[in-house]
Amino acid sequence: MHFGYKDFRPGQQGVVQALLAGRDALAVMPTGAGKSVCYQIPGVVMSGLALVISPLVSLMGDQVRSLQDAGIQAAYLNSTLTPSQQGSIMTRALAGEFDLLYVAPERLEDPRFVEFASQAPIPLVAVDEAHCVSQWGQDFRPSYLRIGTFIEQLPTRPTVAALTATATERVRADIVRLLGLQDPYQAVTGFDRPNLHFSVERLEPNKKLNRITTYAKAHPEDSGVVYCNTRKNVEKVHEHLVQSGVKATRYHAGLRKEERSANQQAWINDDAAVIVATNAFGMGIDKSNVRYVIHYNMPSSIEAYYQEAGRAGRDGLASECMLYWSDGDLSTCRFFLEQDSDNESMSPEEAEVARAARRRMLAAMEGYCLTCECLRGYMLRYFGDESAAQQDNGSCNNCSNCEGGFRAVDVTAEARAVMRCVQELRGRFGKGVVVDVLRGTNMERLEQFGLAQAKCLNSVSMSQVQLKEVIELLAAGEYLEISDGQFPVVGFGARFREAAASDFRLQMKQVLRQPQRKPGVAGGRSFG
Ligand code: ADP
Repeated sequence: MHFGYKDFRPGQQGVVQALLAGRDALAVMPTGAGKSVCYQIPGVVMSGLALVISPLVSLMGDQVRSLQDAGIQAAYLNSTLTPSQQGSIMTRALAGEFDLLYVAPERLEDPRFVEFASQAPIPLVAVDEAHCVSQWGQDFRPSYLRIGTFIEQLPTRPTVAALTATATERVRADIVRLLGLQDPYQAVTGFDRPNLHFSVERLEPNKKLNRITTYAKAHPEDSGVVYCNTRKNVEKVHEHLVQSGVKATRYHAGLRKEERSANQQAWINDDAAVIVATNAFGMGIDKSNVRYVIHYNMPSSIEAYYQEAGRAGRDGLASECMLYWSDGDLSTCRFFLEQDSDNESMSPEEAEVARAARRRMLAAMEGYCLTCECLRGYMLRYFGDESAAQQDNGSCNNCSNCEGGFRAVDVTAEARAVMRCVQELRGRFGKGVVVDVLRGTNMERLEQFGLAQAKCLNSVSMSQVQLKEVIELLAAGEYLEISDGQFPVVGFGARFREAAASDFRLQMKQVLRQPQRKPGVAGGRSFG
């Protein structure tokens, strides 16, 4: 082939073969896994013009240039070209000059283009970033909804390839339905990163700081990233690290552009070992020897977490991905969720759908923090990479859950009591009130709310902290839903009925206190 690769990467061959055989395909592979090859090879092999729909106008030029460098006839049509340049591309395309033509989805609404497409022989339509068609994803684009109709109205139905890096089950179902894929071959591969060790721990903010500093000091030669949820936290963690003698720098949108790029460069050159940053950092950075990525706060989705943590260990060497979280992180995420989903270009209904999608993504992230399962398996299953999730009987032996150190406590009875209580309170109160009712505490306040006679009053004996965690577990499983905004209330989630089923079970992770190692005694090395 023209492409100069010796072998296919996982997943590529299946997709290429399916497309060449005329079968639609959906490829879900992480960024960098090589999705382009999946449609480029068939695009070149099939006779006629393969249309590639991509939202990334700024990247089209580069993609097309590198194809041309490889001797492939490719072109693009987008708003960076003048109308006469566009006309000339279409004329040349009709003359059969190109194998691949890249267009933005907005183009499908242009009558001139639709006319052109009805005349050109189009054996293949490839839809890149296909998750943009779903309102359940992070980057919904209304213009993607046109693609299905566009394909339908072509004189001959082309084979359709959909490609994306993030697709939960729901998003995948949307892609198939809204793009009108017919019995598509599905490939979900490449998400597993065996060299990354994942760990998660619940820690109060001051303890997080010490933990991170201790780690960075113990690994002075290692390159690392510490992600924080706010600029303020970036400043705090950065200052703490620097004061402790760690060579750290920082990155967030509040810094001047020159300082940001100087700091980034210092980290890339390994002059600074650690960069403390908000999620504004990392796009387009390709540093292979990152040995650890620490999250000082819980991110708002598994997608975001896996992408950020995945910046560790690109060289394939063993690397650490540590997530420290606290209840405060969850509140912050819920608070921002309301604001982040307020987008001026959306109707109120669209905004509510976007909020619901974000709530579910946050619930899944919370589930990662609370789960007793293998952490890697949890994430791989989330992305739909089932075969990778099930390898080694679903236990990777390379994450903090597989390594143990906790007990899985059955809290099914308590969970049922919580569900009854939320029902009795009709979803009007926050976590604190639900807990007070169930434990019969803070009676004065309950009196004020008219809840002193509640049927489920004092029906559970469990600590306040644990009971709150049971509520969070139910929210993570979507049995309950905790609203966003400043005063979140506990209501029913999409799966609340399932909690009433007889086979419903809930387990809570109870961390076992690790014996404190005293230097020179338990460690033994100093006797050496
Ligand atoms: P994605 O679209 O999934 O993010 P790309 O298609 O841009 O990824 O590919 C990422 C990189 O991997 C590119 O540099 C590409 O040249 C390279 N690549 C893709 N397939 C192969 C292969 N079979 N062998 C070697 N390199 C490959």
